[in-house]
Amino acid sequence: MDQLTDIPWNVSPRLTRDPTLEAFRPLLEKNRSLITEIAKKTFKYGDTDRHFLRASTSYIIKLDIYWPPVQPTSSNGKTPILFYVYGGGFVAGDRNSLAPFDLMLSSLGAFFARRGFITIIPDYRLAPEFKYPTPVEDILNAIKWTLNHGSELITPTTLDPDLDSLTLAGHSAGAVHAATSILHPTLIPLESDLRKKIKGVVLMSGPFHFPPITEIQVFEAYYGTEKNAREKSPLSLLLKWIDTKPKESLPKILLIEAQYEPEWIFDMGVDYQKVLEWHLGEAVLMVIGKGHNHISLICSPSSGEGEEWGVETVEWIWKNLKRVRLTAHCCQGVSAVGSGISAGSGADTTKHTTDDECSECHQRRNRSFTVQLGTESVSSKTFMTCINCGNKWTRI
Ligand SMILES: [Zn+2]
Repeated sequence: MDQLTDIPWNVSPRLTRDPTLEAFRPLLEKNRSLITEIAKKTFKYGDTDRHFLRASTSYIIKLDIYWPPVQPTSSNGKTPILFYVYGGGFVAGDRNSLAPFDLMLSSLGAFFARRGFITIIPDYRLAPEFKYPTPVEDILNAIKWTLNHGSELITPTTLDPDLDSLTLAGHSAGAVHAATSILHPTLIPLESDLRKKIKGVVLMSGPFHFPPITEIQVFEAYYGTEKNAREKSPLSLLLKWIDTKPKESLPKILLIEAQYEPEWIFDMGVDYQKVLEWHLGEAVLMVIGKGHNHISLICSPSSGEGEEWGVETVEWIWKNLKRVRLTAHCCQGVSAVGSGISAGSGADTTKHTTDDECSECHQRRNRSFTVQLGTESVSSKTFMTCINCGNKWTRI
């Protein structure tokens, strides 16, 4: 991890990417056999006649499946499933990088497979050719394909894939797509079986709202217009969800940020956490990837360095599934020690106020925090909680 200190981090992730990949390349190379010995297979999914990664190429989108080396992995005799959605600033990304970085993202798939999950990494169509919400539709099609092809998941080490225990994870733009999939008003209907099967969502380093001016072009490439980028962001969708849907309709959410995340992304993660906690009335865990920048977080699995966030994530997923993981010996050879920092919400910006009278108990003892929204109609919103009776409301 020492090699990361000279790499600029509080800048566009595009500038952090190449030197970080280069820093982790020898670490992954050292573990090449441990990564590539994990069983992996590639499938086409969806309507493959038209699902090209880019309109201009003949590269059909596919998904990779990685299997745990032992079975079963869970106390109920089954093997749960993890979907991972990679990032790439909405306009780039691939299941597999080309040499010399060809171990990305096999390294991540192998890391989670070794810890008990059938790990599935789908491709999705990219901006600017394909705009909101096409990638989200692709990811949901990959999940539906998986549920409809359960027999393809059965291997000598995985006899009973648990199609009812899905966890959806995403990094950066992939976190935006993962968050959007559960918050979009129609893509997964409220009472659908699919929604019930998604038990947890892991959102890593997500730009959850409208970005600083230097990044606007990327967001417009995906969302089409600035207005759309503001109104369809995961934070805007969350606020609409809060207004219209019951609390229980959201799966459990884990947030992850790198310690050296670009500040604008980190701040958005904290805002997202605070709004979620306000809505749910319970703590939402944020794991901090100690020593990591935006890119190194996802380079570290199977590298033997900086894997603590991954270990914490694995623990969270198992706990969230309410299952006990049976095997611990399968992770030998890849170090997984220590613990990262876990943070509660940024309570320092929460303040007490006596401005508003509670409409329920008419007391004036409240807690509040303000989030910058930057939507067309609302620039910021203050979230209020009555200390006396727990009543909640917002004001603009
Ligand atoms: Zn009250």
